[in-house]
Amino acid sequence: MKYETDVIVVGAGNGGLTAANELARSGLKVILFEKHNLPGGVATSFVRGRFEFEASLHELCDVGTEENPGVVRKLFDKIGLDVDFINEMTLFRTVVKGVEGYDVSIKAGREEFERSMLECCPECGKSMKKLMKLLNSTQEALAYNDKKHGKPNKLVMLMRYSSFLISASHPLDDVLLSLGFEDKARSILETYWSYLGVPATDLNAFHYFEMLRGYVKAGAGVPRLRSYSISLGLAENNFKNGCDVRLNSEVTGFIFEDGKVIGVRVGDDEYYAKEVISNIIPHNVANLAGSENIKEKDKKLLNARKFGVSFLCIYLGMDLSVEELGLPYTTFVSSCLFPGESFLKTKYPEIYIVNCLNAVVEDATPSGTSSLFITVPVIPEYFMEGVTPENYREFKNEAALRYIKDCEETLGINVLDHIEEISVATPVTFARYFAAPDGTAYGYELSRWDGLMARMLDKINRFSYDRLTFCGGHGASGDGYGVTYLSGIEAAEKVISRLKKQELIEDIKQTVKNTVSGKRRKKEEN
Ligand SMILES: Cc1cc2nc3c(=O)[nH]c(=O)nc-3n(C[C@H](O)[C@H](O)[C@H](O)COP(=O)(O)OP(=O)(O)OC[C@H]3O[C@@H](n4cnc5c(N)ncnc54)[C@H](O)[C@@H]3O)c2cc1C
Repeated sequence: MKYETDVIVVGAGNGGLTAANELARSGLKVILFEKHNLPGGVATSFVRGRFEFEASLHELCDVGTEENPGVVRKLFDKIGLDVDFINEMTLFRTVVKGVEGYDVSIKAGREEFERSMLECCPECGKSMKKLMKLLNSTQEALAYNDKKHGKPNKLVMLMRYSSFLISASHPLDDVLLSLGFEDKARSILETYWSYLGVPATDLNAFHYFEMLRGYVKAGAGVPRLRSYSISLGLAENNFKNGCDVRLNSEVTGFIFEDGKVIGVRVGDDEYYAKEVISNIIPHNVANLAGSENIKEKDKKLLNARKFGVSFLCIYLGMDLSVEELGLPYTTFVSSCLFPGESFLKTKYPEIYIVNCLNAVVEDATPSGTSSLFITVPVIPEYFMEGVTPENYREFKNEAALRYIKDCEETLGINVLDHIEEISVATPVTFARYFAAPDGTAYGYELSRWDGLMARMLDKINRFSYDRLTFCGGHGASGDGYGVTYLSGIEAAEKVISRLKKQELIEDIKQTVKNTVSGKRRKKEEN
């Protein structure tokens, strides 16, 4: 069968859901296809026994407070989505093992952040002042860039935001060095790198600073219910706005005509639309499109890009309360001060994050219990080496045990004797459930030539399909909850503006046609 609509959105992850919502709100006819039986993509949860586990979300950045909303709250307010967020004001505890190691906690809020850094590193006062100035300047430069829709006046940028320009595309570690931070302070400030999956020696400083600023401003945003509650809210909004949400509907092909994307295939059915938005990663789109429909430039970009890190995730339902565990919400553990790229290129990277949800959402699990979430960034090529379907189960259990034991030793807690439920996800899980190539959790790696700065400014780093727009963690702004919600809105706005232009052109053509035929009729009458 053949069907027609205004816009098709492929994939109901964060990006696809907000894109479909924005399009439907503007009055367009939209069909959203999702291969799963549930909306949300990785923004989901699952139940084991008495526990509902969060599948992915540790923390949402730039949520802000009700009085001083950040980007995420503003977005939800705009689309009428009421999410109950809690702001966690202990940013993190970070434990570095070894002789140079430390165990410190850093707080949110500008003053508290500076104060907690000074308590750990009394000599870093001057450098902290410079850093706070740079965070401000980064925010102002980005706000100016947004105001100018990504086409800022170069002279204004040079005159007003020179410190941003000088530091922006440099690696984070270099910039912190240039601000005069000693080893320990630098190591603490770089803690969040594992959230982005790119070591501080390769990560664009301004990308990191944007994240750091968001967290320092109002802490980490954690929804009282799991991230799936947000996905459900967005899906419900889509229904209300008249979007046709089709679950259990895997897109199996993209239809092209004269180099333009004109629709998609779902099973035996063909759906045609004026525009298509893809929440699925360009590598998968290329596979579904067929090599003959991909431009040479796009092939080069596909070949050059590197997938981002994946994760080993260990979800634990504990028969101990958060007080008995004595853990804050987020603890980063690492075996050295500066884990570089080679640190990840091992089977078992000695870095991981431990989240105890009940430290923020007290009643997230039944009384006397708690939920632990251990996340290890891994590169599948190294982590999965030698793993076969036959030994996968054994490998997964061994890997989980290894990190649980390290966690017990390093944090001084008894985990093994108190596990009521356990579930383990590996890159295979992400590849299987979300069709993520190599199990990438973050789309493409944001580093060096493909860093955030390059993606923002350089068209070479973007795909050039006609009538196909991308949104999601693989896009120009990178991964993360906040940015993927926004990426959907941006994709929808682009499509709406193109369709409006098209409508205008059609209107003008019709008016010209009417005028010409009117004149002709008059002439004939005379
Ligand atoms: C373990 C983990 C922890 C994370 N922690 C955080 C965190 O603490 N903070 C943060 O900000 N970010 C975090 N992230 C990143 C964040 O979750 C992602 O960047 C974001 O959710 C990705 O959204 P997306 O729009 O790219 O869609 P995705 O979630 O990738 O969804 C894509 C959707 O497309 C569907 N699909 C695929 N192929 C097809 C097809 N052929 N037809 C139809 N549908 C299809 C999939 O089923 C899926 O629903 C984490 C990610 C992971 C995996």
